[in-house]
Amino acid sequence: MHRFQYVGKQLYCEETPVAKIAQRVGTPFYLYSIGTFLDHYFKLRDAFKPVDPLICFSMKANSNLTVLKALVENGAGLDIVSGGELFRAKRVGVDPRKVVFASVGKTPEEIEEAIRAKILMFNVESAQELEAINAVAGRLRTTQRIAIRLNPDVAADTHHYITTGRKENKFGIHLKTAYQLFMESYRYPFLRFAGVHIHIGSQITEAKPFIEAVRRCLEFIDGVRYAGKTTVEYLNIGGGLGIIYSKEKPQTAQQFADAILPLLKGYENRLRLVLEPGRFISGNSGILVTKVLYKKKGQNKKSFVIVDAGMNDLIRPAFYGAYHEILPVLRHVRSKVEKADVVGPICESGDFLAKDRRFPAAEPGQLLAVMSCGAYGFVMSSNYNSRPRVPEVVVSGRKFYVARQRETRNDLIRNEKIVREVLS
Ligand SMILES: *Cc1c(COP(=O)(O)O)cnc(C)c1O
Repeated sequence: MHRFQYVGKQLYCEETPVAKIAQRVGTPFYLYSIGTFLDHYFKLRDAFKPVDPLICFSMKANSNLTVLKALVENGAGLDIVSGGELFRAKRVGVDPRKVVFASVGKTPEEIEEAIRAKILMFNVESAQELEAINAVAGRLRTTQRIAIRLNPDVAADTHHYITTGRKENKFGIHLKTAYQLFMESYRYPFLRFAGVHIHIGSQITEAKPFIEAVRRCLEFIDGVRYAGKTTVEYLNIGGGLGIIYSKEKPQTAQQFADAILPLLKGYENRLRLVLEPGRFISGNSGILVTKVLYKKKGQNKKSFVIVDAGMNDLIRPAFYGAYHEILPVLRHVRSKVEKADVVGPICESGDFLAKDRRFPAAEPGQLLAVMSCGAYGFVMSSNYNSRPRVPEVVVSGRKFYVARQRETRNDLIRNEKIVREVLS
């Protein structure tokens, strides 16, 4: 579900024609429907209402300040993975008690910043990280809440780049080792072992792996409880909920809640549930608008539609082989359907947005909407080929605003200088 739809021939974002925005800001650009972000957030919140969970939007999926502010103002917390994300989180005024910090490689500086900011919890990925956080917390004379990220070793049926809960992944701590850490929590006097965390992968369309992983967490929590060492107060089941890119039939928020909530029976009064959705909230909430520059016939009668957005703007097709639907911003009912690769201007064969795609014949100057780019879109963009990053435009109803400006040529060289000393 999203708020990009045709009214007659025109593609609209909420009540604003996409073509009108393109005329004002030029192409390419990312376009976000604020209403869609909130719709998805509310769906998940409402589905889990019986347990009043803490929903921390995983801001690595989309860290635009306006998007974050809209979610935070409506009660969302944030899941961060770096000091840079903490900086953005502070900038939008999130309640620090709603911030959780994951990452296998937190530096001492990042740990200190986050403790000083009084975040709720670190999701810890190794014994050495525990020692590092304990040391910083001790130096700052405070006690810091942590959760242990378990590696539940469940298989999630998704792209191998985005499964994170198998034993061969770098993420989380093996159950036995994690149990040992809980038993030895007295060795970390400045830490409170408050939670258990999992995140088993991304774009997972069915509840089964989640159910299996949550079961393993609860068994773990019971085990720790019987040993009487600490009480686990938080169960963080991560993100990873899948969305529709093409023909997927992902679980709805309600179906997901219906699968998970029964497992938590009997734990309601002593375990706070935490969710970290990224893609579920943001994926369908944004599009990338691009313009056709040229058409060209390759050998073997293959057609290429060359557009002004490239893999530096949206890397998902090249990186994950991801499918993004491509729609014309102006629909011509009678235009004939062609098969083509939609490619960008970058000097790489991997620079494509779609392969062998059948869609209405595109002509130079025509605008195309690359759908479902709200997650892992702009945030993964780069300046490769010295291309300035594109703007991020937000729509609310009939109004649109540039929330992040197009980078300039000067932005490209802002931090650079010519080092004369190396020249002969
Ligand atoms: C990336 C990530 C998420 C969000 O994943 P989605 O698939 O976008 O929901 C949540 N938690 C952690 C720890 C992550 O690394």
